[in-house]
Amino acid sequence: MTETLSATTIAEGVERVTLPLPTGPQHVHCYVIDGTLFDTGLGLEPPNWREFDIARIAITHFHPDHVGGAEQAARETGARVSQGALDYAQCERVWGSNDWPERIADWLLTHGVPKPIALELIEAGHAFASFVRFAHDPDLLYEGSELDGWSVLELPGHADGHIGFLRDDVLVGGDHLLARITPAVGLYPGSRPDPLGDYLSSLERTADLGLRIVYPGHGEPIEDPAARAREIVEHHRERLDVVEAVLADGPKSGFEMSIAVFGADLSPQERRFAVAEALSHLERLVREGRAARSGDARNVTYTAT
Ligand SMILES: [Zn+2]
Repeated sequence: MTETLSATTIAEGVERVTLPLPTGPQHVHCYVIDGTLFDTGLGLEPPNWREFDIARIAITHFHPDHVGGAEQAARETGARVSQGALDYAQCERVWGSNDWPERIADWLLTHGVPKPIALELIEAGHAFASFVRFAHDPDLLYEGSELDGWSVLELPGHADGHIGFLRDDVLVGGDHLLARITPAVGLYPGSRPDPLGDYLSSLERTADLGLRIVYPGHGEPIEDPAARAREIVEHHRERLDVVEAVLADGPKSGFEMSIAVFGADLSPQERRFAVAEALSHLERLVREGRAARSGDARNVTYTAT
C-alpha cells in the first residue's frame, strides 16, 4: 500500500478506502462493502487491491477520480466491473477517444471562451486522458438492476449516467450527494440537454427515499440525506435567481456568465467547470421560460425574457 492510502472501517461491514487526488477536494473515497468495491479512484496511486476482499467492482460514474483506477482494480482482483449503461457510453466517448479535448475546446469557443484558454485546455486534456484507465466491456446496469443485493438507481445530474446503489436505507452515492461541497452540474457537448433539471429531480427523489445514510465519494457520510438534498435544491434555486438577474444587464455568453457568477480569476481548468456550470443554469432558465438562447451555432448567447 502507498503511505498516502488510508483504509478505515467506518461502520459494521463498511470499509472506506481514501485515496489522494492532486486537485479539488484532494481525496476520493472508495468503499468495500460485503465484497463489492464501489469506485476505484484516479488510478495514479492505487492501493494493492489484492489486500481487500473484492468479488465485484461497481462504478457510480465515469469521472476520472471514480473510474480511472478500474482497469487495474479489475486486473488485480479478477473481479468483474459493473457500470451504468449510459455512463459507460459517455466514458468511452470521453476517455476512449483521441479528440475529446479538441471537441470540448471547440464547443467552449462557441460559448465565448477566448482562444488561448481553449488551446491550453486541449494540451492539458491530452496529458490527463492518458492516465484514465477505465475497464472495457463492463456489465451494464440500468434503473432497477440488482447487484448482489443492491438496487441500482439512476440519479442523473452530476453526470448524465450517474447511478447510486441502494440497500435497505443505505445509499452508496458517488458524487450525487456530498456533505460540504455542492456537486458540480455542468452542460457538456453531447450531454443530456438539461442536466440541472435532471439533478433537481434526482435530488427530490433522493429526499423521498427514506435514507438513513449516504456514503459519498468525497467528505464525510451524510447522516440526514433528505435535508442535505433539499439544501442543495435550494442552493440551485438561489443560483438560478442570480443568473437570471445577471441577464437583466444584457445578453451574456456562457463565458461571460461564468465570470459574473464565479469571478475572473480562474485557471483554464476551473474556467471549463465554471462555464459548464453557468450553462447548466442558463439552459434550466430557458426551460423555465426565464431566459432565451440566441445567436447561432458558432456564437451562442443568452438573453432575458
Ligand atoms: Zn464526479
